[in-house]
Amino acid sequence: MEKISQKELKKITRLLLANHVPEDPDILAYFEISLEDIQTGVQCPKSDCEFFGMEYRYGTWCCPKCGTRSKDAHIPAIQDYFLLIKPSITNSELRNFLHIDSIKVANKILISMNLPYTGKNKGRVYYKPK
Ligand SMILES: [Zn+2]
Repeated sequence: MEKISQKELKKITRLLLANHVPEDPDILAYFEISLEDIQTGVQCPKSDCEFFGMEYRYGTWCCPKCGTRSKDAHIPAIQDYFLLIKPSITNSELRNFLHIDSIKVANKILISMNLPYTGKNKGRVYYKPK
């Protein structure tokens, strides 16, 4: 099965919300989509590229396809995660979703988002802002 892109899912989500489907619907269950079907990685913000899988180097996301650089391309990806997958995220979930190897880098990104959180160290969980 071909992967469903975050962009397609977002379109569907917007449609659902516009049609007054309950708040925070379980989009994946609704469409019988599994987590593995969702395209992960940070998407290139350049409109004629939109490649998934930007690489994080020294604080900047770089697109291996078109060379676009971005400091904040992870923000829409995290928003998508909250919308499509669940309203909370851990360091390891963030690393999987954004394709980051380093715990430290993932931590830095999470802290920079100023998200509400509970727990400490490895047990820390970050939440979708209200
Ligand atoms: Zn690109």
